[in-house]
Amino acid sequence: MIIFLDLDGTLTHTAHSYFKKMKDGIANTDVELIKRYVFPGALSFIKEQLLLGNKLYIISDSHPNYVKAIAEQIFDLPYLSLADKPNDKKTRAFIQSTPNLKEAFHNKDNFILVGDSWLDVALGRLLNIRTVLTKLYTSTEVELRDGIGDDWKPMKQGPTYYANNFNELANIISNPLKNLLALEAVFQGVISSKVVKFKFHKHTNGFTAFRCLARQDDGECDRFASADKYFQIDNPARTIDFLDNLALSVSNYLKSVEAQNTFKWDYLSYVSDKKTTKPPNKMKQIFDLVKSNIPKVELFEWDPNVEGKLRYQPDYKSRREFIAKYLSTHKYYDLKDKSIIVIDDQFTSSATAYEISTQLRNRGAKNILFIALFYLILPLSNKTCPKCGKSMQIKINRDNGNKFYSCIPPKYRGEGCGNIINI
Ligand SMILES: [Zn+2]
Repeated sequence: MIIFLDLDGTLTHTAHSYFKKMKDGIANTDVELIKRYVFPGALSFIKEQLLLGNKLYIISDSHPNYVKAIAEQIFDLPYLSLADKPNDKKTRAFIQSTPNLKEAFHNKDNFILVGDSWLDVALGRLLNIRTVLTKLYTSTEVELRDGIGDDWKPMKQGPTYYANNFNELANIISNPLKNLLALEAVFQGVISSKVVKFKFHKHTNGFTAFRCLARQDDGECDRFASADKYFQIDNPARTIDFLDNLALSVSNYLKSVEAQNTFKWDYLSYVSDKKTTKPPNKMKQIFDLVKSNIPKVELFEWDPNVEGKLRYQPDYKSRREFIAKYLSTHKYYDLKDKSIIVIDDQFTSSATAYEISTQLRNRGAKNILFIALFYLILPLSNKTCPKCGKSMQIKINRDNGNKFYSCIPPKYRGEGCGNIINI
């Protein structure tokens, strides 16, 4: 495996603005000082990875004087400085000019990129390689460019993995398939209970948590993201094998949830299908295939007069209003002090998750776990149209899941020439 490592905030605790002058090359790099800011475990992690035969490179946005001094005198690793993340041009040129990397780049599975900010994740996505978002420190300030201290921003960028320490990172590198998100893993024939942890809010008598099982890619990404699978859910020709796999990923995660918690979950439910939903019973079919010891109930119901679609609501506020108006919790069940798990297909603006949690809390529910199969990651594209020079977007054929670049014409609210390149 070839491992690209970010420097500041990933190997050294230097994300703080105090180090800015050194990173910018304005002040001399004090290597002895920086040595004291190397994260615990970083040096032994590097040593171990080299012994395993992996190749490591530092990819940093900082000034050459700073990166050179640290890479050579502290870590003894080759490096690229002024990488200009998330732009992938310099990293691609670095790969092409390094024979080992150039050869290995024919198979993107040979690579993994590790970093602590959305810039690292975006760079990895543009290179179509897997990414690990690290969280080795707690930031005290929100830094606007890097989005450090803002948890949602890097998560919405869609890293393949998350690591809180170097042991977790080493485990991911040794077992890249087993560490995929639960739903992404089942399509590789592997069991995983990994999820994206979007929200954990503790109440006086319980908690609300939002979790997601797969990334729905929008544009460039590694090959494990699942936009093609997301669209397959809507396809009337979806197969039972496909639905079985989706349900299996939920079952795998639920097993780990039941093992973690000291209390019993009272109800397992899902966001019901509308009468008009196509294919009919879109979510119910998946829900019925989920294997769990938790009692399954249908807690939610749509107003039969529901008009319009949630996805056509323009913003968060109108989405919540739409749910509040048309989706209600059955009065039949006593939810006081109950612990409830709710499954939904997609997490976009989080409006459904928040509105349903609010309804359940208002009915006295104690612990709420909202699980979405997919969440939409931020769009990312770097392809220019060879015909007109405008930016091209990756699109997916909803019927067959094939991906293609589109220079989106005005007919589809774009500004491009309509050129299409199949991937
Ligand atoms: Zn064009």
